[in-house]
Amino acid sequence: MIPRYKRVMIKVSGEALSGGAGQGIDGATIGRVADSIRKVRDLGCEVGVVAGGGNFWRGARNGLVMERSRADHMGMLATVMNCLALSETLENLGVPTTVFSAVPMPLVAESYSVVAARRRLAEGRVVLFGGGTGCPYFTTDTGVVLKGIEMHADLILLAKNVDGIYTDDPKKNPDAVRIDEITCEEVLARGLKATDATAMSLLMENRIPVLLFSLEDPDALVKGASGEKIGTVLK
Ligand code: UDP
Repeated sequence: MIPRYKRVMIKVSGEALSGGAGQGIDGATIGRVADSIRKVRDLGCEVGVVAGGGNFWRGARNGLVMERSRADHMGMLATVMNCLALSETLENLGVPTTVFSAVPMPLVAESYSVVAARRRLAEGRVVLFGGGTGCPYFTTDTGVVLKGIEMHADLILLAKNVDGIYTDDPKKNPDAVRIDEITCEEVLARGLKATDATAMSLLMENRIPVLLFSLEDPDALVKGASGEKIGTVLK
């Protein structure tokens, strides 16, 4: 397979690392995800990864009463933990990585800078972006779109637990059909579900293609980066 895109930005949700448990990190599962990321780099792509944190913590939940900003701070820390675990797993596979954190923590990760991150990508290192946008009230879906724009990525690979955008909820409606390609405007007009509103508005202003797909197929990342028809392309 050959890379269709030179620079790609991948979103890996926290849940995708938990191996069905929904919580924590499962060794075999993160190994598989890291191996898929390695294959995308082996294609010749420059690869950035934004990790979610929902496997450890997601804004106020679990019945714990917390002020939103503080709860989101915990969520951002969770995303850094996933980046560290992914970095370690990738390095064990022989893939050089750099971890940046949008929340400065110099002992743990490099503080995020656009210029330094672009340089690391160009050097061929897999760059892991922790801390999402660095601001509470946001999500890592918004984070990956923001980083994709800042890094001048050619494609954002947004892994979801459904393999694309459907005409209706496929879990509720057996007649729901997967859409191959759609614009953000059409998604909004038809009331379909793609990603959160902040991410959508950034996409509409910046016109970067997003592939929505599921990591259930272990080759999905490589297929997506090669331009194979999988999931839904959001334009
Ligand atoms: N978060 C945040 N700002 C960001 C990104 C994430 O405050 O820019 C926090 C927020 O609490 C969120 C949590 O980190 O719930 C984990 O991120 P997300 O829910 O996007 O992770 P995923 O569900 O993809 O694992």
